[in-house]
Amino acid sequence: MDEGVWERKYHLALERMESDEREFRAVEEVLRRLSLRLAALVTAPGAEVAALLERLTAELRGKPSPASIEPMLDALAGVVTRLDDDSQTEGGEDAATVEALRADIARLQELLATVSARLGDVTRFLAGELEAARSGQGGSHELDARVREEMRALGEKTLAASDLASLQAEVNARLSLIDRHFSEYREREDARLAAYRHRAERMRDRVEELESQTTSLQDSLRREHELALTDGLTGLPNRLAYERRMAEVESEVRRGAVACVGAFDIDHFKSINDAYGHAAGDAVLRIVGQTLARELEGRAFVARYGGEEFVVVFHDTAPADAEMLSQRLCLTVEALAFHASSRPVTITMSGGITRFDAHEEATDAFDRADRALYAAKRAGRNRCVLL
Ligand code: GH3
Ligand code: MG
Ligand code: MG
Repeated sequence: MDEGVWERKYHLALERMESDEREFRAVEEVLRRLSLRLAALVTAPGAEVAALLERLTAELRGKPSPASIEPMLDALAGVVTRLDDDSQTEGGEDAATVEALRADIARLQELLATVSARLGDVTRFLAGELEAARSGQGGSHELDARVREEMRALGEKTLAASDLASLQAEVNARLSLIDRHFSEYREREDARLAAYRHRAERMRDRVEELESQTTSLQDSLRREHELALTDGLTGLPNRLAYERRMAEVESEVRRGAVACVGAFDIDHFKSINDAYGHAAGDAVLRIVGQTLARELEGRAFVARYGGEEFVVVFHDTAPADAEMLSQRLCLTVEALAFHASSRPVTITMSGGITRFDAHEEATDAFDRADRALYAAKRAGRNRCVLL
């Protein structure tokens, strides 16, 4: 063989060795990646992984080639990626731990939802109480303080809790305490409200009682007032009532009204008393008084001035008309069919009439009427004199 032939053979052998070495290095690289993936899969071999591993083992026992191993590596990579996605963990936690964590997360979320709902209740309740406190009903400061304390304790325990179960127990215990505070608070508020209602009812009763007492007091005052202005024997207004009326008439005549005053006195009244007794005299006083009031109703104010003397205030009446009315009154009294001791007794009276002048006092007008009355007496009684 010539030198050229050996040289070609040597080159060919060299090329094959280099190719074998490249292939060996490629297999080595694939196996290295395979062992890494197996390390990742070692804690979670599913059915899919088991099948892949079986095929890989068979392949490696024979003559492994990159072309045959590569697809299995891709398949394994896919499984590992899915496991990574499922677990969301860096180091590849096992399925039981992942499941337990999921359950813990679910419980924690449930617990937090409960806590936030309860705190929502607390917030709404406190907002309502705050509104009530602003409008002056009841105080919730104590409850507010207690709930705040529970919430603060809850925060502390939450931070200190080492596991979910103890955290859950702590939260539940605190929520129960808050519940109890609410119940106690509501009981106290109910009791307070009941006591308040009871007091309000008693107050109302007392007010009603006072109102009725006030009404009856007012009634008796009114009666007292009327009595103070009424003559007990005849039922006519008395001298005090006359003076009040005269004060009113005085301002009326000052404003231009026309008014007259008449003073009337029963003639020889003493002799009636003497002849038939005091009771008969009283009866005479009553019948004369009632006659004056009845005859002058709507035209004049009639009062018993004292003794057997009556006073009349004619309003919106000219002196001549007052005199005429007075004369008629005297005739009416004279015509009364009065009997004492079964015997008819003639009663007469005299009157003095005068105009209430706009520039004088009420007493001046009365004094003049009284003078006119005595003029009538002097003139023979049973008559009226205008002065
Ligand atoms: P004159 O005609 O001058 O008026 O004579 P008179 O008798 O009527 O007058 P006098 O003043 O002398 O007598 C009045 C009497 O009236 C005296 C008094 O006892 C009597 N009298 C006064 N008030 C009452 C009373 O309320 N009831 C009775 N029954 N008599 C009374
Ligand atoms: Mg008299
Ligand atoms: Mg008299």
